[in-house]
Parts: sequence; structure tokens; C-alpha cells
Amino acid sequence: MQHGKDGILAQTPPTDERKIRIRWLIGLSSIPLFGMVAAFGIAPGTQTQNVQVKTVVESLPVPPATSTPMASENFWREERIQRGDTIAALLSRLDVNSENIAEFLKSAKDAKTLQLLIPGKIVEARTTDDGDLLSLRYLLNSDTVLKVEKDGNSFKTVEEAAALDNRVEMKSATIRSSLFGATDAANIPDAIATQLADIFSSEIDFHLDLRRGDHFSVVYETAYNKGTLVKTGRILAAEFTNGGKSYRAIYYKDREGHEGYYTPDGKNLRKAFLKSPLEFSRITSGFSMRFHPILKEWRAHKGVDYGAPMGTKVKSVADGVVAFAGVQRGYGNILVIQHNGHYSTAYGHLKGFAKGLHKGSKISQGDVIGYVGMTGMATGPHLHYEFRVDGVQRNPLTVALPTAFPLAPKYRADFASHEKSIAAKLDLLRGTNLASLE
Ligand SMILES: [Zn+2]
Repeated sequence: MQHGKDGILAQTPPTDERKIRIRWLIGLSSIPLFGMVAAFGIAPGTQTQNVQVKTVVESLPVPPATSTPMASENFWREERIQRGDTIAALLSRLDVNSENIAEFLKSAKDAKTLQLLIPGKIVEARTTDDGDLLSLRYLLNSDTVLKVEKDGNSFKTVEEAAALDNRVEMKSATIRSSLFGATDAANIPDAIATQLADIFSSEIDFHLDLRRGDHFSVVYETAYNKGTLVKTGRILAAEFTNGGKSYRAIYYKDREGHEGYYTPDGKNLRKAFLKSPLEFSRITSGFSMRFHPILKEWRAHKGVDYGAPMGTKVKSVADGVVAFAGVQRGYGNILVIQHNGHYSTAYGHLKGFAKGLHKGSKISQGDVIGYVGMTGMATGPHLHYEFRVDGVQRNPLTVALPTAFPLAPKYRADFASHEKSIAAKLDLLRGTNLASLE
């Protein structure tokens, strides 16, 4: 089977970016939020028809404005770069006397990004009454502004931190076709969709369990520069209702720096085993619901088959050691991972194994161990997954799995007060969500 669906694989943000975001959290629950805007809209009918979308945006307070004299001695103007723009044309629209500065901008090594004249990007200029340039600002990336300033008879470039408008956004949506269909309709960034799937990955198998009518609410951080989303932060809280059962996740970081997602009563959502061995992405998200090639005939062949495009990443559901990596009759390329004294997992029909992986390799939960294929007895690309207890196949969809990593008792009170404030936001979303369904 060839399902050549083009799509963009969503990515989780790089670790260093995540670290930066942690700072945004500090004091969130104690800062009075203002500027609440509620909106309700129905997305235009694409493949995600009739998706109920509700958006609530809260703005974190901006720092108090420093008093500025009413009569400013200079002017700020801003212009958007147009397709086919030139430096000269841009400066002319900014009402800047352009002779010297145009030359400088064309030749300055540090102004290379500006020289690309990327359409849609904004350039700001501060001039004197006569139109002589004092300084010019250009957003290089989500964190940095390039500043060009007057320096005697010439100019110089300086890079400084961008002024970001940090927000906490709250959205909810109902699933009609796929998780990404719902997040697209609600205008939720892909990085948030993958975080959402990751957070609940020990509770919900996003390939097998999603149902039409499942719904979720999510509270997450974003950063804007002049109205443009430049950064997506972490999910602060989420509620996911799957098949009528609701799960809640609250982000919490204790004073020693341990962080994670917890249930309202303080249980860690991270467990020793993931529910699904398949990487969740925009492509695999729609795959199961559109092509439903999943054979849930566990009794017949003592495994679960996940239909997925060729080459989809297969992840280890838990920490362990590779016990077997090779070919077995029927299974084709198969990998067996021993997790501890009792549990092992097997992954069959693989196209290939992860590079460098061999018997005895140490594996961590979530590590990519191979790729979906159709080796052995398989009529189409799919992953054959077995969960074994003491070497005997058991149904992973029903077996009770061990939990792990509880919240330290000394942080329970602190967590409880944090949970109370963030739960109020989820309740607000849930209330409006229910109201909109009536
Ligand atoms: Zn199978």
C-alpha cells in the first residue's frame, strides 16, 4: 500500500529553547492576568468540518511604561517588506533620507539578513524631523533584533534582545478527523499538538484510541513580536477527553528543578511504558483514522498491528536492552527488547533497525529503534507489536502497566495550590465547551 500523503512532520522544540521557556513560568500563577478575550468561531469546512473551536487569550501584563515626554524629538515609522522590494524603495517608504544609509545597508556584513529583503518582515526606522536616520530595527529571529544606529558620520550595527509579548493561550477543540485536523482548525501550533500527544502518551494511544467527538483543552505559552507568533512555549495544562474518559495534565516544576506533568492529585503522567510504539506525527495522525488498517485481532495472532507509512519511526515503549535484532520466520526483521525481569516487547516487519543497534544495546524509553516496513509475512506496511510478560504474549491494550515517578511528598502542598489556579482555567474552557455543544 502506498499512501503518499504529503505532510509536515511536526517537531518538538529543541532542548535549549525549552530551557528558556521555563523562565516564563515563574510567578505565572501569582500574577494577575488581564486582557482576557474570548472568541468563538467555526472553522471553514476543510477536512475538519464542524470542528468546534474556542479560543481564549490571556495576556501577561507588560512592564509598566516608563514616562516619555509628550513631544518626541524624533519619529518612528514601520514598513513591511514587499515582494521585489529594494533597499532604496523600502527607505523611501520609511521617509528616510537614503543616500548614506542605503550604501551602508547594502554593504554591511552584519546586515546580511536584512539584505535578503524577506517579504512580510517588518523594518522600523527612527528619524529626525528632516528624515535623517537615527536608528533602524529589524527582527532577526525570535530572540534578536538587529539595530542599525548613527555612529558619527557613518552607521554601526548592534544586536539586542527582542521585546517579546509573552502570552498564555487557552484553546479547545473537538476531534472530527484527526488530532492535527482539530489543532489546525483551532489554529494551535503543530509543536503544541505533538506536546499534547507526548504528555498523554502513557494514557492514550493516539494511533488506536482516538475517536470522533474526543475533545481537549490546552493552556500553553506563546511569544509574539508585533503581533506575529515567533515562539511556541510549553503546555502548562491540558485536559483530554478520550472515549468519554477525561485526563488532566498539569505542568509542575519543583524547587530542585524536577519537572513534569502531573494528574490533579499529583501522580506523574510519565509512566514506565508508553501506550504506542509508533512515533506520532502529522502523517501518522491522520493515517489510522483515514485508512483504518489497524487489525485489533489480538487473540488471532497475539500482537497489535499498526498500519503506518513505510519508514515511520518505531520507538521503544520503555527502557531496556536489545535481546534480539534479526530475522525470524513470519516476523521478517524483528527486534525484541527486554525491559526488566518480567516485561519484554517485540517489533516486527521492520524495514530496518536504527543505526548501530545490536544485541545488548541499551535503550531508553522513546528511543527510535527501527522503521516501519513489510518484511516477513505482511501484505502492506505495518508494525506488528507484541507485549510479553515472562515471555508470553499479553494484550498491551488491557494489561495493567506499572506506574512510576510520583511527586515528592514535600512538594504536594505547593503543587496543590498551583493546580488549583490552573485548573480554574481548564474549568473555564470546559464550561464554555459544553455550552457550545448544547
Ligand atoms: Zn501482526
